[in-house]
Amino acid sequence: MSSRDGGEFTERELERYSRHIVLGEIGPAGQRRLKQSRVLILGVGGLGSPAAMYLTASGVGRVGLIDGDRIDLSNLQRQVIHPDAARGRLKAEVACEQAQALNPDVEVVAHPEQLTRDNALEVLAGYDLIIDGSDNFQTRYLVNDAAYLLGRPVVHGSIFRFEGQVSDFVPGQGCYRCLYPEPPPPGLVPACRQAGVLAALPGVIGTIQAVEAIKLITGAGKPLVGRLLLHDALAMTFREVRLRHNAACVLCGDHPTIRALIDYEEFVGEPLTAAARL
Ligand SMILES: [Zn+2]
Repeated sequence: MSSRDGGEFTERELERYSRHIVLGEIGPAGQRRLKQSRVLILGVGGLGSPAAMYLTASGVGRVGLIDGDRIDLSNLQRQVIHPDAARGRLKAEVACEQAQALNPDVEVVAHPEQLTRDNALEVLAGYDLIIDGSDNFQTRYLVNDAAYLLGRPVVHGSIFRFEGQVSDFVPGQGCYRCLYPEPPPPGLVPACRQAGVLAALPGVIGTIQAVEAIKLITGAGKPLVGRLLLHDALAMTFREVRLRHNAACVLCGDHPTIRALIDYEEFVGEPLTAAARL
């Protein structure tokens, strides 16, 4: 078997992943699951940068990176996968090159496009697990609905100024709509551009998302399913809120009304424009 079809490990892989393989909770079986898994990282910004680096380095067999934006100088304080010299280039393509250089033994795929209602189901279908590192409500509801309809788990992460949150949404055990049935009123939550964000905070949250993805894939430990982790970097506290599957959820509840993707700009009440983004 070749090194990419999930068979035996090469000598190089045994050495590269040796610190995983010695962990009882992961071991050769867990490392094989990582190698056989396909993870899509949605947004290669502050959250997606560390998630992409750790998941590629840890031996996830295929890492997909989707982002339609180009690298801007104001991104570089926190989007650490992008070098300064790559300003103006497509984030997905640059991040793909950088991640592939970190680990040539895995496959890294660039999707240099915005996730939309038209392409979401097709793109997500090529992956087993989604890391949501998006920066707007339109995309969060879109990826939530598309992943649920396809039966894919989502590791959700978001940040705002000095605070961040993470949770794992596994189909049938709660979703983003169970947590937030309605989006906030248009314009109420300012984007990073206006609100600011602490540089290393997305590094913390995006890295926790990578940890959760590895746990969900390998079965190690207790994932953040039914739990919302809240982090305050200024106070340096982590606390947890229990999340319950909402029986009235319009997507995953007892009587769902959403059975296909909807118009997310209309649902959120504002168009997804470059100015509204991170
Ligand atoms: Zn739900």
